[in-house]
Amino acid sequence: MKIIDEGLIKIKIPEFDKISSEAPVFYNPNMEFNRDISILALQTFQKELNRKIAICDLFGGSGIRGIRYKKEITDTDEVHVNDISPLAISFAKKNAEYNDVELTFHQNEANILLRQSRGVYDIIDIDPFGTPSYFIDSVAYSIKKNSLLCVTATDTSALCGTYKEPCVRKYNAMPYKSEYCHETGIRILIGFIALTFAKYKKYIIPQLSHSSMHYMRLYLKIKKGSASSDESLKNNIGHIIHCRKCSYRKSITGITTSIPRICPECGEKLKITGPLWVGLIQNKEFIEKMMNDNSKILSTKNEIDKLLETCYKESEAPVTFYDVHELCRIMKISAPKLDKILNTLIKEGYLAIKTHFNPLGIKTDCDVQTLKKIIKRLVN
Ligand code: SAM
Repeated sequence: MKIIDEGLIKIKIPEFDKISSEAPVFYNPNMEFNRDISILALQTFQKELNRKIAICDLFGGSGIRGIRYKKEITDTDEVHVNDISPLAISFAKKNAEYNDVELTFHQNEANILLRQSRGVYDIIDIDPFGTPSYFIDSVAYSIKKNSLLCVTATDTSALCGTYKEPCVRKYNAMPYKSEYCHETGIRILIGFIALTFAKYKKYIIPQLSHSSMHYMRLYLKIKKGSASSDESLKNNIGHIIHCRKCSYRKSITGITTSIPRICPECGEKLKITGPLWVGLIQNKEFIEKMMNDNSKILSTKNEIDKLLETCYKESEAPVTFYDVHELCRIMKISAPKLDKILNTLIKEGYLAIKTHFNPLGIKTDCDVQTLKKIIKRLVN
């Protein structure tokens, strides 16, 4: 037996050689950062609601997430922990006792629990192996209005377009492996959720979206109403067109809007990604509240501060970003320092900010041809 110390709790799990879905009870120490941010986000949401909240940890594993939610978030009402594995649930129960917290346990297939518990939870957390896509329809049916949905996806190779077919199959969208594919991956995931929710007259408002290590994570507020759902799709679903020859790109809003096929800059055939979410993926106010609340004794506090600060700045930035090295590779020149480019863009009146998606990325409203000229000037 192994004893794990994380946050304010300790859990016991069976010994395992490597982190894998084959382990008898799943526990991944690398996801502490994910769980720490979740605690902060859920606490922020609880404070906004200003009442006790019911949480469902739908893929409980060892119980670590649900137990931490109960122990570390103030004003939780009930925390439900579910897992399809009887062994996982038996460990989660023992771990709850070990930490002296009372939880409600279910040993059920996630879709079945969701179908049986419509309108019960204020927060549903989906942290499955690989893709969350198999559960999105059930969560759309089940989740109540004014709630929060947290989603982890670890099938980043599908979302980022390493292989196209799995993305089309799971998310009904065409990916493209560009330098900003982690951003399009997150947008494909959000778009897929928004389109599925619209069937149930529900719509989403992204609060925080990040791509970290091997996974993507979303925090979405859920609202209800047919007219607002229609409006949300109209304003937020679209496509991204990209020219791999000159790096021109543009986001096109609207489901039925016609999509240009030829690059207006160089005449090359364009790559089309989507349908995906082209609306905002960060919410300034929510992230600011999380930043102010990050006094909690979370061991990843400094990394969280860094991520939240970047996501806060990114909140109103344009869709996609330029990877400076990729741009310079196309231009066949060596890359100037990132800060030098950022400062010049700002001095010339453009928006220019870093992105959490890529340490070499710049989000800017400067068009690609002008950006190339500016970079060239800086190298000469
Ligand atoms: N949330 C956990 C944490 O933070 O440590 C990790 C969860 S782990 C990635 C995924 C869990 O989902 C496993 O424990 C597995 O047994 C469970 N699982 C897999 N398929 C499921 C399904 N269809 N319904 C419910 N649980 C499922």
